[in-house]
Amino acid sequence: MTTLPMPADLPEPAINPNAQVVLAKRYLQKGPDGEPTEDARSLFWRVATAIAAMEAHYDKSPFTPEALARAFYDLMTGMRFLPNSPTLMNAGAPLGQLAACFVLPVGDSMEEIFDAVKFAALIHKSGGGTGFSFSRLRPKKSRVGSTGGVASGPVSFMRIFNTATEQVKQGGTRRGANMGILRIDHPDILEFITCKERENELQNFNISVALTERFMQAVEKGEDYDLVDPRDKRVVGSQNAAEVFSLLVRKAWESGDPGIVFIDRINRDNPTPALGEIESTNPCGEQPLLPYEACNLGSINLSVFFDPEAEDGIDWKGLTETVHLAVRFLDNVIDASRYPLDQITEMVRANRKIGLGIMGFADLLYLLRIPYDSTEALSLAEKVMETIQGEARSASKTLAAERGPFPAYAESVFGKRNLGPYRNATTTTIAPTGTLSIIAGCSSGIEPLFALAFSRHVMDGEKLVEANPHFVAAMQEAGAYSESLMEEVTRKGSIAHIGMLPEELRDVFVTAMDIEPVWHLKMQAAFQKYTDNAVSKTVNLPNKATKEDIREIYWLAYELGCKGVTVYRDGCKAGQVLCTGEGG
Ligand code: ADP
Repeated sequence: MTTLPMPADLPEPAINPNAQVVLAKRYLQKGPDGEPTEDARSLFWRVATAIAAMEAHYDKSPFTPEALARAFYDLMTGMRFLPNSPTLMNAGAPLGQLAACFVLPVGDSMEEIFDAVKFAALIHKSGGGTGFSFSRLRPKKSRVGSTGGVASGPVSFMRIFNTATEQVKQGGTRRGANMGILRIDHPDILEFITCKERENELQNFNISVALTERFMQAVEKGEDYDLVDPRDKRVVGSQNAAEVFSLLVRKAWESGDPGIVFIDRINRDNPTPALGEIESTNPCGEQPLLPYEACNLGSINLSVFFDPEAEDGIDWKGLTETVHLAVRFLDNVIDASRYPLDQITEMVRANRKIGLGIMGFADLLYLLRIPYDSTEALSLAEKVMETIQGEARSASKTLAAERGPFPAYAESVFGKRNLGPYRNATTTTIAPTGTLSIIAGCSSGIEPLFALAFSRHVMDGEKLVEANPHFVAAMQEAGAYSESLMEEVTRKGSIAHIGMLPEELRDVFVTAMDIEPVWHLKMQAAFQKYTDNAVSKTVNLPNKATKEDIREIYWLAYELGCKGVTVYRDGCKAGQVLCTGEGG
């Protein structure tokens, strides 16, 4: 891989101390002695040049690789846009695997199951996360023809994937993450729903139940529904839908697991049904993919586009330009990435899916003084995402004119309806941005702040203390800032009950726990409306929330067209990742 010489006038990236810690631990390339061989500036230049170099493959490119490298460098170091972690870690570096999201098929044979275990290990080593549907596996206690024994079923095989994940420390970067999905009509569904009820069980898995519309209708009507053997589609039993739904709700109330995905809705949005059916998503749920498909993500930091001079406070022109450059970046990532399996390379190159999303949304709301739990915030969410989706599609069309449409275009829904051509089968996804948001110094994804000031445990027990800068500035501006106030805020996380502060500020500077659960869900749905793939969002519930609250959230998600839901009731699990002094 060639790296262009670093221009002398390349500005230093403006990164905060937290970002420094994160970069040094996991992102900077290291020599044989474990010492970093690059700094933040050379990291971003490495990534910018490796991704811009792909431009040379295309005759009609309006950019030279040099000019584009500089544009990509400014894009990232201005914290307007960051690609997903594997791209920052591996672009222009020996590993060269740049995607965060993979889905692998798990077939109903020993060979296929253990192939999937091996493939997952290779992906984890490169920093990617894997999703699997276990729905094709024969149920527990089925006959095994070749041995005369009995099958152990999906859940017991999941433990093998879990253990393998535990053992593969990802090339010194990150420990693997998995999504395990089982269809609601699989005969082992009850065992699956309860498989994480013991603490520490299947720790390297997020699990979700794939709900069908048929099942949801059976719940509504109080009817039974069929359990089906995946091998021959024979009906082998039935269950009361409402009872199973109640069990799902109860388990989510107890521990947050399992989540749910609406698999029919996901497949209605499958842009290439001719290439297969979607059975699973990536680990955090925002990226439904076909078996053997991978996707690279990237996120725009909205807080940077706050413009106090603009009529509505947002620099829409700057945002639009950023979307166009980001789409070119992500399309180039596909060419620059080396995938661990030929089947994956083939699938990725056929569909060329990318997932452009956002982070810093809660920060933007703070800056605009709009409460997260307001209809104004929902309208803003729709407007922002409609713009990003529209511009991302237009950028993908521009690339198609330069480079040709994605190879599976003709047989895709776009090709069939003459809607393109596009360069990418999908362009938008909203990721959690767990570490990206630390690097960019903004709020993560579309989530509200967890706390206005808090201590954050990152990687190997390190602890970082942070106060939201927009909150601090607003307190100073209002003349309310004091050390004792900040101490109280760090203890409580929220200012909802600090009566001496003006009400307008208490309304605007809300945190996840101050927000009624239904607003979390409405926000997710507002973003989903203009997102090709899915939206990563946790619906936070207070500890006192009831199972009935969760049931309502699930139904609302179904009715509002979400592709899945994850709820989390405060304090229901030990060792929360983020914690306030009192809460955690
Ligand atoms: P980041 O901010 O590090 O780029 P996100 O928090 O946005 O990552 O997560 C995006 C996706 O990256 C996840 O849905 C998952 O597919 C993958 N991912 C995240 N964390 C891990 C991990 N520890 N191991 C493997 N994959 C991960």
